Amino acid sequence: MDQGDTVNPDPRRSLPSVDKLSREVVRACPDLPEWAVVAACRSVLRSARDEAETLVSRGADGSALAEFSATAWSARVAVEADRLAGPHPRRVVNATGVILHTNLGRSPVAAGAVEAAADVSVGYSNLELDLASGRRGHRLSAISEKLCLLSGAPAATAVNNCAAAVLLVLNTLARDREVVVSRGELVEIGGSFRVPAIMERAGVKLVEVGTTNRTHPRDYAEAIGPDTALLLKVHRSNFEQRGFVTDVELAELVEIGREYGLPVLEDLGAGTLLDLGSRGLPADAYAPGRIALGADVVCFSGDKLIGGPQAGIILGSEEVIAAAKSNPLARALRLDKMTLAALDWTLARMLDGTAQRELPLLSMMLEDLPSIEARAQQLHERVASLAGDGVRITIEKDRVPIGGGSLPGVEFESRALAVVSTRENGSADAIMRRLREFDPPVLARVRDDAVCIDLRTLRNDDLEVAAKALEAALSE
Ligand SMILES: *Cc1c(COP(=O)(O)O)cnc(C)c1O
Repeated sequence: MDQGDTVNPDPRRSLPSVDKLSREVVRACPDLPEWAVVAACRSVLRSARDEAETLVSRGADGSALAEFSATAWSARVAVEADRLAGPHPRRVVNATGVILHTNLGRSPVAAGAVEAAADVSVGYSNLELDLASGRRGHRLSAISEKLCLLSGAPAATAVNNCAAAVLLVLNTLARDREVVVSRGELVEIGGSFRVPAIMERAGVKLVEVGTTNRTHPRDYAEAIGPDTALLLKVHRSNFEQRGFVTDVELAELVEIGREYGLPVLEDLGAGTLLDLGSRGLPADAYAPGRIALGADVVCFSGDKLIGGPQAGIILGSEEVIAAAKSNPLARALRLDKMTLAALDWTLARMLDGTAQRELPLLSMMLEDLPSIEARAQQLHERVASLAGDGVRITIEKDRVPIGGGSLPGVEFESRALAVVSTRENGSADAIMRRLREFDPPVLARVRDDAVCIDLRTLRNDDLEVAAKALEAALSE
């Protein structure tokens, strides 16, 4: 064989076997569980073989092949195994200032609510047992009672989330019939919740009325026919309309409903059970107020402005709630005991007037500016020594939306630590990345090229974590 015929060896031959590679990684990283190492070996070797095939098909030269053979596969496997074995979701520190951050799990749940959930799920519970009579009880009875006490609604229930609540009510009240809704309210609430799609899956026929920006009472009246079963109002949770806009208010819609003998369902999304109108929240977020205005059914989320676990709360008349509960879909959408216990605990704190102290959501939302300012000072002092030499750390005014696709246009005043670095590796993106790599990861925001650590969502317990994360992020 002469020089010209030298065939580069097949790079796939240089790859170790799963057995050999996993033994190597287990020896080097004894903390990684073996199942994760083996799975990671398989996936790393699979993509390595693909890489090799690409190299061969492109006729890669000797040095590219040598580089491939020299790859530290075990290091790649360790990273992948660590990812696989790690918990998900894991705790992160929210320094974005956005209280209901969709990507960060919306509302935090109170420690007491979590304890209540743990208490009934580590062992047994009276989930469906009436202790007084020893007979079968209903899993939702206590929640329903508390919801009625809080809201003044005649009846109430709860399901898995607000999307499920809307699906259940539509299907219960209007299956195979028509539901009238304004074109200005055919909204998408992020990801997969689109009002027309939910209506289709609920088996109801959508009748759109009005235009994107203007809907009048007569539009509803004209659309109502013998097949109409329900009038639907959807809260525009994540956008505002300004300018040449007319909406039919709930009270007007209720009037139309009464006139034609049709129930009105409001999908409120971000609803509260405490009247926080005087604390900067819009009056229409107060769910009991919507019942008082005559809505027959109101649906909203448990993990938005309630500050509880994920749930879909339904308030309404006895007739409607009873029908919804006996719909077979209710079983498919029902809450589990952990969520029930956490929601029950959360509602009880609202009834006994300790919600603001006990629920993290409310304490964050209602914390006054001087208190936030004081905590900003505290963090600033703690990290002051990191400034200088190209790094500037200042306290800045901040305004943050509540987030979670809730209450568009409502912003909270806040204070943030603004960090700007002109050092190498000091770009805002690089600092943000290192903050995310910290354990626990710290999530901040970038504003005008500064990394902003907002104090409204940064709990006292997390001040030290944020300080250490900044230290690590600025030391590279
Ligand atoms: C958020 C929202 C929903 C979806 O609520 P989930 O609890 O996430 O299912 C539905 N409708 C409106 C108007 C919302 O704001």
